[in-house]
Amino acid sequence: MSSVVIVGSGLAGWTAVRELRKLDKVLPVTLVTADSGDFYSKPMLSNALAQGKAPDQLVGTAADAMAAQLGVRLLKETRASGIDRARKALLTDRGEVPYARLVLALGADPIRLTLAGNAADAVLSVNDLADYARLRAALDGVRSVAILGAGLIGCEFANDLAAADHAVTVLDPAAWPLATLLPQAAGEALIAPLEKLGVTWRLGQAVTQVDHSESGYRLTLGNGETLSTDLVLSAVGLRPRIALAKDAGLAVNRGIVADAFLRTGDQDIFALGDCAEIEEQTRPYVLPIMRAARTLARTLAGTPTPVAFPPMPVVIKTPACPVAVQPVARDAQGRWEIAADERGVRGLFYDADQRLKGFALTQGHVDERAALTRQLA
Ligand SMILES: Cc1cc2nc3c(=O)[nH]c(=O)nc-3n(C[C@H](O)[C@H](O)[C@H](O)COP(=O)(O)OP(=O)(O)OC[C@H]3O[C@@H](n4cnc5c(N)ncnc54)[C@H](O)[C@@H]3O)c2cc1C
Repeated sequence: MSSVVIVGSGLAGWTAVRELRKLDKVLPVTLVTADSGDFYSKPMLSNALAQGKAPDQLVGTAADAMAAQLGVRLLKETRASGIDRARKALLTDRGEVPYARLVLALGADPIRLTLAGNAADAVLSVNDLADYARLRAALDGVRSVAILGAGLIGCEFANDLAAADHAVTVLDPAAWPLATLLPQAAGEALIAPLEKLGVTWRLGQAVTQVDHSESGYRLTLGNGETLSTDLVLSAVGLRPRIALAKDAGLAVNRGIVADAFLRTGDQDIFALGDCAEIEEQTRPYVLPIMRAARTLARTLAGTPTPVAFPPMPVVIKTPACPVAVQPVARDAQGRWEIAADERGVRGLFYDADQRLKGFALTQGHVDERAALTRQLA
């Protein structure tokens, strides 16, 4: 019987297994993962501190229990190092795993800024449970935290750390928070509510250097100013893990290139989740990943099915200033219509034909997202 091998035990990998098992209880499935394989909710990493959650409290189901429930062979703490496509074998640091069909659900790596200084290596980032455990340990006795990056993850951590009584400074070369997702007025809506919580914004300046100082770290900004802090957390974005696919001769761009069937250039190798670029777009969010995993399961179970992505707004977990956004492609042609009132900011993006293509809602306007999403659809 043909076997499916899935690499990666994040949301993408485990959801693909779960969906596949709904359709086929007997197909042999092997899950290979470099980490512990425990199933946890990654979005909780950036709102767990204020709730005082320890890393093991974020685990929904332990790896072995997941494997037993779903009837899969689990190779945890096993790193894939290559794909021998001619022999259809995944090469790992614990030997070869033969496959009939292979799913790459490898996730993404935090981007590391190129920083000068003798403490550049001490900058933390949080992209998995082990990182979260490191952050928790590093925060012990620490008051001030500098966050590099005012994007989704940076803003969420800023809210969470400030709510957990840390003095937070957020630094970003962009002029307003969430600048790649939100128009200026909506992004600026976050500034005052987070300031009220104890967040200081240093926008419009890049950090160039991180050094050890007597009490912690000293950051140097592009304009020469310096800032002292006890801890530095980087949240400047994620880069899809493409090396395994690239080394195997598969097409890669920003992510591993896949068609609507999640299929790479090799008809027996699929890409899913943060590592994938499906029909020219990466979609590193929970809802599209779950949808793609469900669709891929149908294909793996014998009914080739293309995935279609309806509009799926992203809700940003900044309770001090709730935000919902239906992002607009960077090169989209059109214009924002922005209204701001006591309830917050409501930005609607229209194309040249007056069709609603995206939106950005803050605070009281967040409730309008379902109705607006229907208009988009
Ligand atoms: C802090 C944070 C907050 C977020 N909040 C939200 C949110 O509120 N809403 C939202 O929609 N999205 C959110 N996201 C994004 C969302 O969580 C991710 O898109 C999603 O979890 C990615 O799942 P994945 O399975 O593709 O990747 P991952 O969870 O990163 O899993 C990748 C897996 O691949 C394994 N792996 C990698 N390389 C190898 C190898 N060579 N060999 C074997 N195994 C390997 C890893 O060990 C891991 O198990 C957030 C992300 C972060 C970091």
